[in-house]
Amino acid sequence: MHYVGKELNEECAVFGIWGHEKAAKLAYYGLHSMQHRGQEGAGIASTDGKVIYDHKGLGLVNDVFDNEKLDALDKGFAAIGHVRYSTQGGNIYANVQPLVFRSQKDSLSIAHNGNLVNAHKLKGELEERGSIFQTTSDTEVIAHLIKRDYSDNFLESVKHALSIIKGAYALTMLTEHQLIAALDPNGLRPLSLGKLGNAWVVASETCAFDLIGAKYVRDVKPGEVIVIDNEGLHSDFFTTRTEPAICSMEYIYFSRPDSNIQGINVHAARKNLGRMLAQEAPIEADVVTGVPDSSISAAIGYAEATGIPYELGMIKNRYVGRTFIQPSQELREQGVKMKLSAVRAIVEGKRVVMVDDSIVRGTTSRRIVGMLRDAGATEVHVRISSPPITHPCFYGIDTSTSSELIASTHSVEDIRELIGADSLVYLSPEGLKKAIGRDPAMKNCGQCMACFTGKYPTEIYPDTVLPHEKELLV
Ligand code: SF4
Repeated sequence: MHYVGKELNEECAVFGIWGHEKAAKLAYYGLHSMQHRGQEGAGIASTDGKVIYDHKGLGLVNDVFDNEKLDALDKGFAAIGHVRYSTQGGNIYANVQPLVFRSQKDSLSIAHNGNLVNAHKLKGELEERGSIFQTTSDTEVIAHLIKRDYSDNFLESVKHALSIIKGAYALTMLTEHQLIAALDPNGLRPLSLGKLGNAWVVASETCAFDLIGAKYVRDVKPGEVIVIDNEGLHSDFFTTRTEPAICSMEYIYFSRPDSNIQGINVHAARKNLGRMLAQEAPIEADVVTGVPDSSISAAIGYAEATGIPYELGMIKNRYVGRTFIQPSQELREQGVKMKLSAVRAIVEGKRVVMVDDSIVRGTTSRRIVGMLRDAGATEVHVRISSPPITHPCFYGIDTSTSSELIASTHSVEDIRELIGADSLVYLSPEGLKKAIGRDPAMKNCGQCMACFTGKYPTEIYPDTVLPHEKELLV
């Protein structure tokens, strides 16, 4: 799923399967279902118990793999895979995952979703001790830490490495003998466990299970490391200091609506966000419309709660490239126009409520409001199904500088004026937590709210933050 003109970029998805003769092909389908999480690179590593085979490349899953390449990988019974959006390290071939490290003794391949906050520090320390890095990705640090510590007890080496790294990481790792899945102590990124017959499957999103016919078993827990081998599945923890803080944006925007995150369906959560927004910010209007695709669920919820009809006020052209991989602001604005159109027959002469999931720079919102007015809308009321994004994300979402976050420097009234809306209301942080419906007994209902509050669930290391960002940390 490509989100039209969206200014927030997903990070990555990981996949893993153990105990299936078509492991690599199933990894391909699993990655395909999670393509919305990263379009810049894809890769699969597989094993037959003797060798790790791998293939990766820049581009979409379909661009990187064909039947021949998949047949070459489909020799074994286990595989991991990755789709990438490069938040860290840049979009170069060497950074495409899974990263594979070969030695005379054995091999290790690794796929990572998330972003480490102490990678820079650890990399410096490792280099001082003689490590040579092949990539500019933070993921390589994890492999070096594991290999440095590598003793006869591989699991202990993994646990030790995981206890040193900080930040967000949902990992799948493959050796000739084991599939390993692990999640950071805050569980910042989703990671679920499923079963396909006798085979175990791990994926960033449960939509991957649906596509390959696997059954959801449970979510991987914060601080957990799961080892799957010919003996079966074994669960362990590398730390007891855990505090659930899953990324709120996974519910709001990133994940596919048909995925469930920790028992909550993403579409249902978004509908509730829309309902809550209707309670907090009702308005008299003729139609409600949502910005395709990620805001449609919230728009439906808003419409249901207010009784104002939901209409397809905007459509997108699916056959143009992504706007947000184009670097300049100029091209980005052009891209929005190419991808999205207002439906004149729906909005002409109407008071329109336009529901969107977030405002990052404001450029897209301004374009969309303008588009609706050009198509004849008499009023455009913007409702945002998340609180203002005021702080950068250090956990793998592409807002790592605040200079482009309009809400970090402008009031809501200023933003309303800049985007040209008749009214603008964001969902409150309390409304967000309540609408998603996670456990209220947990801190922040077990959600990361840092991009709305500046309160980060992990330590933020000085070199993670640009000098001008430091004052934004509270
Ligand atoms: S800072 Fe925001 S985008 Fe980043 S993990 Fe937390 S909630 Fe998600």
